[in-house]
Amino acid sequence: MIVPRLIERKRNGEPLEPQELRELVLAYSAGQVPDYQMAALLMAMYFRGLDRAEMNAMMDAMLESGKRLDLSRLAAPRIDKHSTGGVGDKVSLILAPLIASLGVAVPMMSGRGLGHTGGTLDKLESIPGFRTALTLAEAEKQIARIGCAMLGQSDEIVPADRKIYALRDATATVEVIPLIAASIMSKKIAESLTGLVLDIKRGPGSFLPELEDGTQLAQAMIDLGALHACPVVALVTAMDRPLGHACGNALEVAESIAVLKGAGPPDLIEVTFALGAEMLVLSTVASTREGARAMMDAAIGSGKALRKFEEIIAAQGGDTGVVKDPLRLPQARHRADFTAQREGVVQSVDPRAVGYGVIALGGGRRNMEDRVDPSVGFVITAKPEDHVLKGQTLATIYARNKDDLDTGRSVLEQAIVISDSAPPPLPLVSHRITARGVEVLA
Ligand code: URA
Repeated sequence: MIVPRLIERKRNGEPLEPQELRELVLAYSAGQVPDYQMAALLMAMYFRGLDRAEMNAMMDAMLESGKRLDLSRLAAPRIDKHSTGGVGDKVSLILAPLIASLGVAVPMMSGRGLGHTGGTLDKLESIPGFRTALTLAEAEKQIARIGCAMLGQSDEIVPADRKIYALRDATATVEVIPLIAASIMSKKIAESLTGLVLDIKRGPGSFLPELEDGTQLAQAMIDLGALHACPVVALVTAMDRPLGHACGNALEVAESIAVLKGAGPPDLIEVTFALGAEMLVLSTVASTREGARAMMDAAIGSGKALRKFEEIIAAQGGDTGVVKDPLRLPQARHRADFTAQREGVVQSVDPRAVGYGVIALGGGRRNMEDRVDPSVGFVITAKPEDHVLKGQTLATIYARNKDDLDTGRSVLEQAIVISDSAPPPLPLVSHRITARGVEVLA
C-alpha cells in the first residue's frame, strides 16, 4: 500500500477499493501510517465524499480493529438508542433502565460532552462513585445479570474509530456523513445489537441542523445496520430549544430520576416515550407503539424502572442513595433565579447558547483534559410560545461562585428572547425513517 498514491487518487475524485481502505485503517490503527497522511486522506474524503462501498469498508475495517461484546448467550433481544446529541438531552439515562426493566438487554455505549452538547458519561459520573470505564468482560457479565450496562468506548472496542475520530476532530473533518455513519455504526455493531433506534436531532442546537442532512445520515446508518442484521429505526426530534428543563450534569440526572418517578417535563417525556416505543417494538417485546407506551407507563408507575436504575448504579459502583434523595448529587454553592425583563411571549430559547453557557459555568469541556464540575448549569422552565409576565421566573442558574452567576445571567439574556409573538417551534417528533422510507409524523 502506497499511502500518497491513495491520497492522490481520492483527492482526484476516484473511489478507493474496499481492500485498500481496510489495509489503510488497520495499518493506521496499528501505528504504521502517520497522522499527517491519514489527515490528508480525511481532508480529501471531506471534499470528495465516500460512496456506499467505501463507507461499508470503513465501518468493517474499524470493527475488525477491536473486539465485540459477546452477548450471544443472551436470550433477550439487544437494543440500544443513539442520539446525534443535543442540549438537555438526558433521554439515555431514562431509557436504559426503563427498557431494561421490560426484559430487553440494553448495552449502552455512550460518549462525553462534544462541542456545545452534553454527554451521557459525564452525566452518569456526577453520581458519586459511578464508574463508566467498564471492561468488555465486566459489561458482558453485568448485562447478563441485570440486563443493562452504561459504558464508554475503550481501547478494546473499535480502537481504529477512536483514533480516526480524534484525528477528524483535530483536523476539521468530522462533518462527512458517510464517515459519521461508519463511526457511529462501528460502535453499535460492536455491541452485538439486534436493533438500534436513532434520535436524529434537527434545528439550530443540533450537530446537523438541516433535516436533509439528518435524513441522509439516518439512511446511511440504516444501510450499514442492514449489512449486519441490525435493523435501525430513526426518529427526527426537535433541537431548536433545550429538551426538558435541566441543562448541566447532576441537574440532568435529577430530572431523569424525576421522570422515572412519574414526574418531569412533558417534552422530555414525549421524546423519551416515542424513542422507547420504537425500542420495544423493534425488540418484539411490544407489538404496537401504543402497547409499548402502556408497558412503559406501568414500569414507571410500579417503580420497576426506578429500581432498575438503582441496580445499574449499584452494579457500577455508584451511590444508589441519589435515587431516593437527589440532593445527594453534587450541589452548586450558588444559585439565582433569572426573571423576565418584560411581559410577552417566549420567542426562542437558544440551545447552542445554553450549551456553551453550561461550559462557561464549568459544566463542560473546552479541551479534552478539562475537568467538569457536575453541579453547575441551568434549569430553564420557560419554553417557546409561553406567555410570561414581567418579573416571572424563567430559569434558575447553578454556579460555583457569584461571578459565574453573572456569567449565567448574561448567557440567559442572550439565549431567551421574549417578544410580542412567537413563530411555532419545530414539532417535537417530526419524522420516522426506516428502510422503507421517510414518514412525516407532524
Ligand atoms: N459521533 C461519533 O461517534 N462519530 C462521529 O463521527 C460523529 C459523532
